[in-house]
Amino acid sequence: MIVGETTLDTMTILFDNTIRAVDSDVNTEGCEIIDAKGAYVSAGFIDIHIHGSGGADVMDATSEALETISRTLVETGTTSFVATTMTMAQEKIDVAIDNVRECQKRVSGAQILGVHLEGPFINPARQGAQDARYVQKPKLASIERHMDLVKMITLAPEADGAKAFIGDIREKYPDVLLSIGHSDADYDTAKAGFDLGIGHATHLFNAMPPLKHRAPGIVGAVLDDERISCDIIVDLVHLHPAMLRLTWQAKRERLILITDAMRAGCMKNGRYDLGGQQVHVADGEARLPDGTLAGSVLKMNEAVRNMVKHTSMTLPQAVRSVTELPAERLHLEKKGRLEVGCDADMVIFDEGLGIIATYVAGEMKYQRSL
Ligand SMILES: [Zn+2]
Repeated sequence: MIVGETTLDTMTILFDNTIRAVDSDVNTEGCEIIDAKGAYVSAGFIDIHIHGSGGADVMDATSEALETISRTLVETGTTSFVATTMTMAQEKIDVAIDNVRECQKRVSGAQILGVHLEGPFINPARQGAQDARYVQKPKLASIERHMDLVKMITLAPEADGAKAFIGDIREKYPDVLLSIGHSDADYDTAKAGFDLGIGHATHLFNAMPPLKHRAPGIVGAVLDDERISCDIIVDLVHLHPAMLRLTWQAKRERLILITDAMRAGCMKNGRYDLGGQQVHVADGEARLPDGTLAGSVLKMNEAVRNMVKHTSMTLPQAVRSVTELPAERLHLEKKGRLEVGCDADMVIFDEGLGIIATYVAGEMKYQRSL
């Protein structure tokens, strides 16, 4: 069992929908016994940046789409996720978020924690696979009616109006995680954004200026500031393994893994749509016709495996970066830990990070067929 930074043998977890006891000596009389048979058990994985999977996308704005994503993610050990929207027309974003509100409690697999707005308050110069035509100036009024669901906002602090916007969010919604991303900010602008209340960076290195020795930019500002957490896409396509090692060394317990998966997550190679744009998926890469990377087809268990394989991160540390740390950053008090009082979101996996079983709120939602 993986707890914090350590692996414990012969522990018993007593749970219904909540974890009731964690001990080496638990009275299990009258309980159904699940034997993990020496496999690893950890808190369920949390994905704070994911657009879709299993052929569906959050922007499809249907109950079927969210159900498909929710059912697919439990196969990868993810037990909860933040549904991530794209930079599209405001009414499309509105409809997608209204759909999340409608379906949030109904999905039958991984739980939906809320919404991550990836844009539209970004810099078109660093659009990545976001559609630059729909970029907007940051304004609380455009999203205020969604703030019951918004957990995270990726934005460019250099955008016109960003300063006031950051101030408004900090004042009225202090628990929302503001994240620098799809931004062309220089080092000083990034730092000023952190001082105002930006606390995180979205897929560090991607969709931002590169780190240069005389112009450290956003990357330098994030690596150099211990207040700031960041996330990375560890599919070995978005970042070179050396950058994974460097980022781990610099950020330690401020580093979170995300998938940024698009609808082709857990699907075959082929053509798919992302935010109204054509994406070609082949050999673990999702790209627009011009070659721009367009999200990933990464699975969370693969991200953990890749970090353990390519960096000095231990398995408990890698697990922590997809459980406890994202829960902490999003103020999810009952998620991300195998502790009494937490939701019984759990995953059982083998040495190679193959998922054996996934439990959401105490219910088995996935079991590997033998
Ligand atoms: Zn994304």
